[in-house]
Amino acid sequence: DETKRKKPNWLRVKLPVGKEYAKVRKLVDEHKLHTICESGNCPNMGECWGAGTATFMILGNVCTRSCSFCAVATGRPPEYDTDEPRRVAEAIKLMGVKHAVITSVNRDELKDRGAEIWYQTVIETKKASPSTTIETLIPDVKGNWDALYRMISGGQEVVSHNMETVKRLYRRVRPQAKYERSLEQIKLTKAYGKRTKTGIMLGLGETKDEVYEAMDHLAAHGCDILTLGQYLQPTKMHIEVAEFIHPDLFDHYREEGLKRGLKYVESGPLVRSSYHAERHVNV
Ligand code: SF4
Ligand code: SF4
Repeated sequence: DETKRKKPNWLRVKLPVGKEYAKVRKLVDEHKLHTICESGNCPNMGECWGAGTATFMILGNVCTRSCSFCAVATGRPPEYDTDEPRRVAEAIKLMGVKHAVITSVNRDELKDRGAEIWYQTVIETKKASPSTTIETLIPDVKGNWDALYRMISGGQEVVSHNMETVKRLYRRVRPQAKYERSLEQIKLTKAYGKRTKTGIMLGLGETKDEVYEAMDHLAAHGCDILTLGQYLQPTKMHIEVAEFIHPDLFDHYREEGLKRGLKYVESGPLVRSSYHAERHVNV
């Protein structure tokens, strides 16, 4: 149904311009950093960068995985850059970010899944900007729980791990991940004492009942915060949008998530897991 696939007007966004935007642009380039804002063609760049905030992507910009929704390049990544934690910390300090969000590609080829670079990045950021709070959006560690504990032990306030979609769609959307394993990772993160968060994209063909089921599973596994946003196809090569979800349904899902035991639900067409992240530090 073509009308269902035409981009509705609630997805129109501001173009990235302005002084703050230019400042972020310059710092990111000068420090040779990567952001998921750019790699993911995020529609909120005008708003977030204009407000002086960005989500840094560490461990390079080549991912060992090939999720069908994601615009990050897949391949064999080069040797990782041991100076990256310092540069990320410096950029965050120079940007004066009050709440930093850091994510990474998947590095399945590394024995420690990149945990050491993760740990160093959090430690360096806290050292450079002691009052800055940090959210780390971490990858699936494939059940390597030692790597998980190293990744989350640097003192970050929030640990997110995105489920991305409902259980039935995993094979198409996140072929190298497992629904239950990601739930388990969230459960262990919570048990470790961290505030937990996840994100699900809507509009991939999931049913309402499947969304409710995911909410129930998340609540049962100790997930505190859920973000729900509209999936947008980054290029024609990526999985198609099945449906544009109406803003009213996003509102309904927020209510439903709270009823089902989640502490905080951020839900709307343009919501991304790092959108309004500063609101999730103290929930
Ligand atoms: Fe970047 Fe997240 Fe903002 Fe998008 S929502 S521009 S990914 S910080
Ligand atoms: Fe993209 Fe993350 Fe999937 Fe890699 S693991 S392809 S960065 S969503």
